[in-house]
Amino acid sequence: MNSYDVAIIGSGPGGYVAAIRCAQLGMKTAIIEKYSTLGGTCLNVGCIPSKALLDSSHHYEDAVKHFEEHGIDIPGDIKVNLKQMIARKQSVVDQTTGGIDFLMKKNKIDVYEGLGSFKDATHITIKGKETTEIEAKNIIIATGSKPSSLPFITLDKERVITSTEALKLTEIPKHLVVIGGGVIGLELGQVYKRLGSEVTVVEYMDRIIPTMDSGLSKELNKVLKKQKFTINTSHKVKSVERKGKEVIVKADNKKGEEVIIKGDYCLVSVGRRPYTDGLNVEAAGVKLTDRGQIEVNDHLQTNVKNIYAIGDVVKGAMLAHKAEEEGVFVAEILAGQKPHIDYNLIPGVVYTWPEVASVGKTEEQLQEEKVDYKVGQFPMRALGRSRASMDLDGFVKILADKKTDEILGVHMVGARAADMIAEAVVAMEFRASAEDVSRMSHAHPTFTEAIKEAALAATEDRALHI
Ligand code: FAD
Ligand code: NAD
Repeated sequence: MNSYDVAIIGSGPGGYVAAIRCAQLGMKTAIIEKYSTLGGTCLNVGCIPSKALLDSSHHYEDAVKHFEEHGIDIPGDIKVNLKQMIARKQSVVDQTTGGIDFLMKKNKIDVYEGLGSFKDATHITIKGKETTEIEAKNIIIATGSKPSSLPFITLDKERVITSTEALKLTEIPKHLVVIGGGVIGLELGQVYKRLGSEVTVVEYMDRIIPTMDSGLSKELNKVLKKQKFTINTSHKVKSVERKGKEVIVKADNKKGEEVIIKGDYCLVSVGRRPYTDGLNVEAAGVKLTDRGQIEVNDHLQTNVKNIYAIGDVVKGAMLAHKAEEEGVFVAEILAGQKPHIDYNLIPGVVYTWPEVASVGKTEEQLQEEKVDYKVGQFPMRALGRSRASMDLDGFVKILADKKTDEILGVHMVGARAADMIAEAVVAMEFRASAEDVSRMSHAHPTFTEAIKEAALAATEDRALHI
């Protein structure tokens, strides 16, 4: 039987990054993955394929709607070749997952293909083509998450689908009904909207992206409506029925009236659930929370001393970069180091266009915590860069402590907000004040000038270009 210092179950961004860091720190490392490709949800059916389709559909939309204004004439009709779009997405996925194979080999990590199941706290049975057993001093559970649904919905995976199927459709829906106005619903909704689908979003809460700062929800809602999305907030879905090629969604609106929405596809994107099926945690004595997550302490250690858990299968935001930080964190703990993660500084991004990005506290949180704060906000449309690229929607909002001027939260909607948020993370990591940021030179013309201007607005209400 092969013995390891550490064995990791699951090869998503949590698991594979943990494996690399463990190997870097000199541990004999194994990783177990039930699928034939590494990379987990993120690389196979999550972050990477969704961004590939967002990019392709964005190019198409630009060609159809904006090229002419830019002075680019394309003779003949511009058409979507969905088969090629999906094939390109798959080749991006294949290259990316192939890269993880390379990284495993480079770091001398043993890869086992098969379902990992605890035999006891130090032994894992792997059921693949053959059944193998390995032994490990320490084990990291990184089994991730799967789409969740509603009790009355039958996911037939043909027309009533999750994100996984939405990433490989063979036709463009005529009318896509999206249940859940969160990240997946809006990102994938926008892909198909750009390709020509009618898109109706049905959201239970009173605003889309309800966990983010409400200013972002409002701005994104406004922009998506301009893009001809139908958005029904405060709607409680009560049934989803498939009749041949039709999907009928019934919901109650705020007034309690029944609303019937008929489409040809329904994307159910109401969140994801931690995944521990087949893991047999009971055999190791590992406890779950009442939400089905693996219960961990502040060191991401389970109730069993040598077993840790990271990523989507534990509490916290279900984000690839959060899982990665936790993978590094546990590896360093195992090596006797004292790592730290500031969960307040894990940014959140929605890759619609305009993009939405956020870090730190929202206004709602600061109000709830009774923090005295000030706001500096700057509209993207006031930037030369925005006019040059015709990306006028959105704003940057900086929340800073009223007394100390320390930046407490940064929230933005706009072109390239996903990349711009990194500046806010750096600033907050070093506990910068709004004035610190306002005094730093920002290249002109760039979208990041909106961050400097918002910082100026927060410091002394002296934005320059508005
Ligand atoms: P996962 O990536 O889910 O990996 C877990 C792995 O464990 C899987 O490969 C699974 O097969 C394997 N596994 C499970 N049980 C066993 C077992 N018993 N034995 C062996 N193997 C097992 N996050 C972002 O930060 N940015 C984005 O842009 C983004 N976009 C997304 C888009 C979509 C459509 C979806 C669905 C998710 C997206 N996410 C995004 C979320 C992101 O994918 C997850 O947060 C991330 O993948 C979690 O990483 P993880 O390592 O915890 O788990
Ligand atoms: P989510 O939590 O972002 O959104 C789910 C939405 O569904 C929420 O707005 C919620 O209020 C709504 N909802 C819940 N029950 C409902 C009901 N009965 N009727 C109508 N609406 C209902 O979840 P998601 O979009 O499914 O994404 C799952 C996870 O994947 C998220 O945690 C997210 O962090 C991650 N993800 C991240 C990215 C990214 O970082 N860009 C992209 C995709 C997914």
